[in-house]
Amino acid sequence: MSELRELYQEIILEHNKTPRNFGKIETANRTQEGYNPLCGDHLHVHLHVNGDQIEDISFEGSGCAISKASASLMTAAIKGVPVAEALELFEHFHQMVTAEIDEPVDDERLGKMAIFAGVREFPMRVKCATLAWHTMKAAVQDGQDPVSTE
Ligand code: ZN
Repeated sequence: MSELRELYQEIILEHNKTPRNFGKIETANRTQEGYNPLCGDHLHVHLHVNGDQIEDISFEGSGCAISKASASLMTAAIKGVPVAEALELFEHFHQMVTAEIDEPVDDERLGKMAIFAGVREFPMRVKCATLAWHTMKAAVQDGQDPVSTE
């Protein structure tokens, strides 16, 4: 188990150091701000939504390693997928990070994002892991107010 944990740790640190889809896309037609006051994570998610399809997505901002790695993996996972599928994936992700510690993880569905199951042990960190997702959801639903996890 500790070896697996180390691998998870490595993926998080790697995505924190070299986040995917980081910056602002020129074609963005939705932008949403998200803030997690508990930890100080603060980011913007930019999307190019075309019909019911997420054509492109990026994020920028600053925060802890978990929030950045989660945003990085989230953008990689939902780029090019239908909005409904992205929201469904968020439901799975949210269920996973808030489940009981010993509940099995559906890593077939969640892929690399299954590494965030580790935050179950640290309730404070759940908000770090879900911030980018909540922000994305508000963006595709055209929310105006910044998202706060509080
Ligand atoms: Zn955080």
